[in-house]
Amino acid sequence: MIIDCHGHYTTEPKDLHRFRKEQIAAANAKDKTALPSRASLKMSDDEIRESIEQNQLKLQRERGTDLTIFSPRASGMGHHIGDESISFEWSQICNDLIHRVCALYPKNFIGVCQLPQSPGVPPKNSAAELERCVKELGFVGCNLNPDPSGGYFNSPPLTEKWWYPFYEKMIELDVPAMIHVSGCCNPAMHTTGSYYLNADTMAFMQLILSDLFKDFPTLKLIIPHGGGAVPFHWGRFRGLALNNGRPELDEIIKNNIFFDTCVYHQPGINLLTDVVPVENILFASEMVGAVKGVDPKTGFNFDDTKRYIEKAPRLSDADRAKIFEGNARRVYPRLKTKATVKAAV
Ligand SMILES: [Zn+2]
Repeated sequence: MIIDCHGHYTTEPKDLHRFRKEQIAAANAKDKTALPSRASLKMSDDEIRESIEQNQLKLQRERGTDLTIFSPRASGMGHHIGDESISFEWSQICNDLIHRVCALYPKNFIGVCQLPQSPGVPPKNSAAELERCVKELGFVGCNLNPDPSGGYFNSPPLTEKWWYPFYEKMIELDVPAMIHVSGCCNPAMHTTGSYYLNADTMAFMQLILSDLFKDFPTLKLIIPHGGGAVPFHWGRFRGLALNNGRPELDEIIKNNIFFDTCVYHQPGINLLTDVVPVENILFASEMVGAVKGVDPKTGFNFDDTKRYIEKAPRLSDADRAKIFEGNARRVYPRLKTKATVKAAV
């Protein structure tokens, strides 16, 4: 079985965009009377089916993957927009929509939630929505935004006590978080080209110099997009860790930090699988997402990452099995009750 741990619903029914546009306009105007109602949303099962079958499901079948761990569009979370109540309403709507996809295709998709984070609001306020999504909707994880400001990095580091009550809820529910920023409103950064990778790299550096995993030995965090700049600069991070009296990186990350394979070329995957322990790598494609289209050099889609894993020269079959399935089952323990049946192709 091949589990893709990083997929977003980027082909949502169009009325969701109408709703969000009206919601943002009302938030910007600070006019609560102009907020659209949830009841106004018109998204039929047929519309959802069509959007999935023509896109994510079609690609799963073509590429030979089985199950996608599926969350709302990351760049659309927009935690910097409006206040906490806006973020709460928007997150619940997006999470409920993911739940509908998972209910329509239970063998192909399993949910991960967006959190109702908002700038300056303690992360503990997102614990209730996480609990709702896990207990009521059967979700297996969450996307945790380290920078709800949308590009200004003014939140406390992920290792500060500010975040601890939320981690306690994650531990209680036995779910991991993918550290994932949203759309960027800082004009100096491109959302998927620089902001995402900057945040990934920042998170890793915060984590390796901290005692976070002494306080939470079972906390599991996934750093997406191949870990940002981390694998390429492994020597720099390793040296900084050792110079600060920390153990080897392999030891620091062992049970707690994982990287996905959303790296869109063969040499990048070769490097990732060369320097990061196989046990800490999870298969992912982030399709249909950040980099659409066909690589003219290979003739295959940039985000068709399965073929890079298959061709990575240093991996054994046993390594590939860990990356494709075994590691995901360890990191997302709640998968074991849900994802036991191989998807029908
Ligand atoms: Zn993503």
